[in-house]
Amino acid sequence: MGDAPVTTTGNRALMLEEPLLFEIGSTDRTGVDFETTAPAAAGLGALARGDIGLPGLTEPEAVRHYTRLSRQNYAIDLGLFPLGSCTMKHNPRLNEKLARLPGFADIHPLAPRETVQGALQLINELAVWLIRLTGMHGVAMTPKAGAHGELCGLLCIRAALEARGDARQVVLVPESAHGTNPATAAFCGYRVENIPATEAGRVDLEALKARLGPDVAAVMITNPNTCGLFEPQMREISDAVHAAGAFVYCDGANFNAIVGKVRPGDLGVDAMHINLHKTFSTPHGGGGPGSGPVVLSEALSAFAPLPYTARTADGVVHLVEEEDAERFSQEHFGGQLQSFGRMVAFHGQMGMFTRALSYILSHGADGLRQVAEDAVLNANYILRSLEDVLDAPFAKSGPCMHEAIFSDRGFAGGLSTIDVAKALIDEGFHPMTMYFPLVVHGAMLIEPTETESRANLDQFITALRSIAERARAGDESLKAAPRFAPRRRLDETLAARKPVLAWDEPAPDGAGLPTPSEVGDR
Ligand SMILES: *Cc1c(COP(=O)(O)O)cnc(C)c1O
Repeated sequence: MGDAPVTTTGNRALMLEEPLLFEIGSTDRTGVDFETTAPAAAGLGALARGDIGLPGLTEPEAVRHYTRLSRQNYAIDLGLFPLGSCTMKHNPRLNEKLARLPGFADIHPLAPRETVQGALQLINELAVWLIRLTGMHGVAMTPKAGAHGELCGLLCIRAALEARGDARQVVLVPESAHGTNPATAAFCGYRVENIPATEAGRVDLEALKARLGPDVAAVMITNPNTCGLFEPQMREISDAVHAAGAFVYCDGANFNAIVGKVRPGDLGVDAMHINLHKTFSTPHGGGGPGSGPVVLSEALSAFAPLPYTARTADGVVHLVEEEDAERFSQEHFGGQLQSFGRMVAFHGQMGMFTRALSYILSHGADGLRQVAEDAVLNANYILRSLEDVLDAPFAKSGPCMHEAIFSDRGFAGGLSTIDVAKALIDEGFHPMTMYFPLVVHGAMLIEPTETESRANLDQFITALRSIAERARAGDESLKAAPRFAPRRRLDETLAARKPVLAWDEPAPDGAGLPTPSEVGDR
């Protein structure tokens, strides 16, 4: 990769290199002036007090270090984030303002319940919105992400099956599912079996029906699915699953495309997680924060985890914990509630609850419907603007939902999806989701969300069109992309298999430390 622009410093224009704190700091520098204290006696017998070697920096050095690191992160606040399936949307600043109100942000999870009625009312009001928007019966608010919600949903299903003395062992998962679905089922001790997809990218209903039987506990279905398509036979699927004595788990990560338009409860869903951090904003990525409430059907609500909020006739919202669960169930729910246990230490993600309710209330029911319509419109605009230069395997099946999907069919010269993704970086765009779902060869999955304006979409389309044309022409230079990024093509497999997680002081001659170009070029 000899054609990378080289500079003396390693910086590229105003993208600055930044070594580790340990490499730039030293133990004799500090940003604060402490009074010198008298040496303390070593009070631990033979253990002597010594230096631990933490690096120090001056204040401007420390500020620059973290500011430079922050600029190495790409974010939805910098530009379009076309990841598919993950709904990366704008987080209105109003949400942040409300989440920071001291009455929500500064309360302690162990504060006496009577003193935090406002926060409990907020959680309960959000719960009511989620139930109404999904047409379901109850909701477990505590799970802390989508995958955690899947776990909660399957534990509810397992508890319901156990309550009727039914030990079913199999969970059916369509081929196109997000990896968390089979992982969750396996984690709960179920055997996972695949259901094939049809040519048109939807669940093969006949294959599903043929596999249903007395050993099947649940079917996990994503709708809209990870091919960006709505499963129109959802009601028929649910009826067949219920007739076989099993439950329907719906992966609701793509609820953004149907919020305000479709109520999963009407489709026969028994449990569905909602990624608050996707559908109802809050920036995520890099591992958090997340919140994954699970809406539940009447058959499953009684098994929801503790604690849960419930408003009694006097208008008070209770946070029902183990010690009052039995009494509460007897007094208010005819002894029906039999929680399977708990998922988290406290009540769930307060900051995200506040952001989500702020998002919901500021849009209103009609605004949420428009969110879904605009997100779907944007995805279809991308699909139709690129289908003449990129193979769109499901375009014939009609409009897509929240995301447009393309394959690498038609690329020449051994070029593949990764070359297109890396070239997008040079154009200033974060790449789309690559090679997922697995049912599409060299998949490129693009979800623009409702965040983007037509002008933004046109810029992205222009960039991707030109790259796609180069890929079809077998333009070798794509293999060298990205050319302008501070790092080129990293050995991601090596990084994942042998991560360097600790810093070792380098030998005085600098031997053993990889140079940026060794790390960055493959
Ligand atoms: C994001 C996502 C998940 C997992 O949600 P997390 O909040 O990341 O745990 C599950 N399924 C689908 C389809 C998703 O897009």
